[in-house]
Amino acid sequence: MTNNKTYFVANWKMHGSVNSVQSIKNVIKLSKKPKYKNTKIVYCPPYTLIRQFVEKTKKTKIDVGAQNCHFENNFGSFTGSVNANMIKNIGSKFVIIGHSESRISGDTNKTINLKIKSAIKANLKIIFCFGETLKEKRNKMTNKVINYQIKKGLHKIKNIKNIFFAYEPVWSIGTGIIPKINELDKQVREIKKIIKKNYKAKNAKILYGGSVNSQNILALKKISSIKGFLIGGASLNSKNFIDIIKKTIN
Ligand code: PEP
Repeated sequence: MTNNKTYFVANWKMHGSVNSVQSIKNVIKLSKKPKYKNTKIVYCPPYTLIRQFVEKTKKTKIDVGAQNCHFENNFGSFTGSVNANMIKNIGSKFVIIGHSESRISGDTNKTINLKIKSAIKANLKIIFCFGETLKEKRNKMTNKVINYQIKKGLHKIKNIKNIFFAYEPVWSIGTGIIPKINELDKQVREIKKIIKKNYKAKNAKILYGGSVNSQNILALKKISSIKGFLIGGASLNSKNFIDIIKKTIN
């Protein structure tokens, strides 16, 4: 995997219907311009739309991902679930694991660890999310929480080359509030240290997620140790998403 790319991961959460794929045509156009050759756009729509997104982006550099997966690689009696092999089979290259909204609906550090292992087996790239709540931040527990989530999430995983580390402070997701830039810079450096110490990886790919928009991106892009962004709300509208990409790359 090349390391000089800037990543823009669109997390559509529970949004989108059959016609939604049409709305990404201008993003596709943008992705084909030489200026954006080092830009990697990844769309993570709901499962129901993955196939359409894969078809629509077939002749482009845009990749598609899922927003979660089951930890069991084989077919089985897991009503309502989709596994990593199935996600890979329909053309996805990425999967988000450990998003705070999935943690709220039942994911634990243990299941997240199993899911990451199954996604590695399926040869998917993993966007591994972690981050502290507001209460944890106020109690000055951020580093402790992040350390714990990373260690537990990657328990007995040695090869982290396909893992993107998405730092998403829970208090920032969907709130319009982002961390102070100097604090975020410091935090990302801290995360890099944790990863370096535990996995001897100097060039781990760190993404930031939490209320990224076309206004705050100018400040966020100054943090050179951030390789890209995980974008929820602002990725649903192509104009906003394009604005973010343009302002980052210009
Ligand atoms: C997210 O869901 O990962 C996210 C960062 O959402 P938002 O950009 O809407 O805060």
